Amino acid sequence: MGVSDPYIDTYELTRLGQRLEGRVPLRRFARLLEGLPAQGDAQADWSLRGEQDALGRRFLHLHVAAGIVLECQRCLSPFVWPLDASSTLEVVASAAQLDDGGGDEGAEPVERIVASRRLDVLALVEDELILAVPYVPKHEQCPDAPKPSGDGAASAAPDSSLGRPSPFAALGRLKKN
Ligand SMILES: [Zn+2]
Repeated sequence: MGVSDPYIDTYELTRLGQRLEGRVPLRRFARLLEGLPAQGDAQADWSLRGEQDALGRRFLHLHVAAGIVLECQRCLSPFVWPLDASSTLEVVASAAQLDDGGGDEGAEPVERIVASRRLDVLALVEDELILAVPYVPKHEQCPDAPKPSGDGAASAAPDSSLGRPSPFAALGRLKKN
């Protein structure tokens, strides 16, 4: 099967323990892109591995990775966020089994999908990407964070450490109290 073929047979993939992988431009994911900044040529790498365990249960292990462009909610500038997400999906025989969570109380909840001879892999990949995007994306440290300038004294000191309260100073205050 070529990587350009987005459809898989879940029965075969899980029975044979096959692994597939591919790369896809983010701009083809319309649902994902809603509300996101332009992605340019950003791409997602994905891999999907089938598994059938000793009890005959079938699983798909999905991994996606992408440098996705998000808008920082603090400084409102776009930045590339290294998305990396994995999930395991249990393949069940019918829709009736999708909600059949009984018996495994306390077990890790596993997403379920219905087995198919023609499952759209890229729809799975898109779902995974959507789930992985942070709800409120932020830079770890915004490049244009407002500096403690504005008064002449601060700008006269080029050493940035002077503009930051030292953790040791705070410690000293605590000790005095
Ligand atoms: Zn920012």
